Amino acid sequence: MTTPPNPPPSAFDAHHPPATAILDKCVHCGFCLPVCPTYVLWGQEMDSPRGRIYLVKLAAEGSAQMTPKWVSHFDTCLGCMACMTACPSGVDYGKLIEATRAQIERNFPRTASEKRHRHFLFETFTRPDRLHRLRAPLLAYQKSGLQAFARSLGLLKLLPKEWQTMEALLPRLAPQQVVPEVTPAVGTKRRRVGLLLGCVQREFFSQVNAATARVLAAEGCEVVAPQAQTCCGALLVHAGEEASAIDLARKTIDVFEQTNVETIVTNAAGCGSNVKEYAHLLRDDPEYSERARNFSAKCKDISEILAELEPRSPRHPLRVRVAFHDSCHLQHAQGVRSQPRALLASIPGLELAEIPEAAICCGSAGIYNLVQPDAAKSLGDRKANLIAQLKADVVATGNPGCVLQLQSSLAHQHHKTPVVHTIQILDASLHGRPPDTLRG
Ligand code: SF4
Ligand code: SF4
Repeated sequence: MTTPPNPPPSAFDAHHPPATAILDKCVHCGFCLPVCPTYVLWGQEMDSPRGRIYLVKLAAEGSAQMTPKWVSHFDTCLGCMACMTACPSGVDYGKLIEATRAQIERNFPRTASEKRHRHFLFETFTRPDRLHRLRAPLLAYQKSGLQAFARSLGLLKLLPKEWQTMEALLPRLAPQQVVPEVTPAVGTKRRRVGLLLGCVQREFFSQVNAATARVLAAEGCEVVAPQAQTCCGALLVHAGEEASAIDLARKTIDVFEQTNVETIVTNAAGCGSNVKEYAHLLRDDPEYSERARNFSAKCKDISEILAELEPRSPRHPLRVRVAFHDSCHLQHAQGVRSQPRALLASIPGLELAEIPEAAICCGSAGIYNLVQPDAAKSLGDRKANLIAQLKADVVATGNPGCVLQLQSSLAHQHHKTPVVHTIQILDASLHGRPPDTLRG
């Protein structure tokens, strides 16, 4: 009797390969296809969730290898999690793509230029100190008129494509507003909360953190914003850089454990979805696994905590038409949809407009618009077209990456509609500021 040949070895290493239990849950129904941005763009099965799950299964069984073509289907995935919301079988695609990307970064040789570009992005966008040092030259570039001059003459086309993409996404920088270590509650204290400051949020959208602290204080929260906090690791974990992400998760837990807060508030959806998943990221760590569970249980998006608190501070009327954009990491990854809408609806005079195709990503997705600029641009243009039809006075969303992407996409189509964080609109209402003060 002949023995059957050994099955071919898996393309994955033994460290947390994509889970067979998740792969086996997919019944290939295809309900996820219409909401997948890359399937919507290209109509290719292998750039759909179902196709990607099949590719992972083939690699796990040793029937496919990590070739450049195979990897390209995972590089083009936005990690937007729209497929998870649509899936009736409960396939946890988020865990699958996270494990697959970590395998790719450990086992697939990226080209030298890819390595350089990714290294630059991770070493810059996860380091608030480095982003801070960039502020002065970037402000000078904008205020001196050099940016407008270079753009009008098309000089930026002389730059490498990566630099052109970053320049196009640069927000209009405003003077930095620093949130103090402790902001006292206005009136009787109802809660003591921590504030995760973020990296891009802290340096490029400091007005959002300042508005968040003001609103929380006005609603009776003492706000603790530890100045020693580092990046939470969101960009890294979403890009498969597991070891560095774990290091930053431990540091974030260490810092917030010192603060004795009941809730940790996030106002950047990508960071929020990451810190809520620390228990999974640190599951192998005997020193941190329990602490990570406790930490994640305290994390809430700003719209979630405000939905829990009975409004105390009066809302002043704001006669403005607001198009609300659901950030993927808020709506799909955190399941937060009704709370930001309720928060806006609580403002007298405000008219809420829904953007069609709300489930589909705007193309931001962490570093996606920097590493996949063509797909991101197509998605950004599609979203900007849909927004423009609404004739809104302002666009509101809950993630700095979406603000950057929507500002850039609207400007590209010559629309001047400002894009702001949802909390800035509530802050303007609480403090009786007119709509024309709303700036991204
Ligand atoms: S995460 Fe988004 S882009 Fe990736 S497969 Fe799911 S729906 Fe498509
Ligand atoms: S909806 Fe769920 S079960 Fe159906 S193909 Fe997509 S991932 Fe698989």
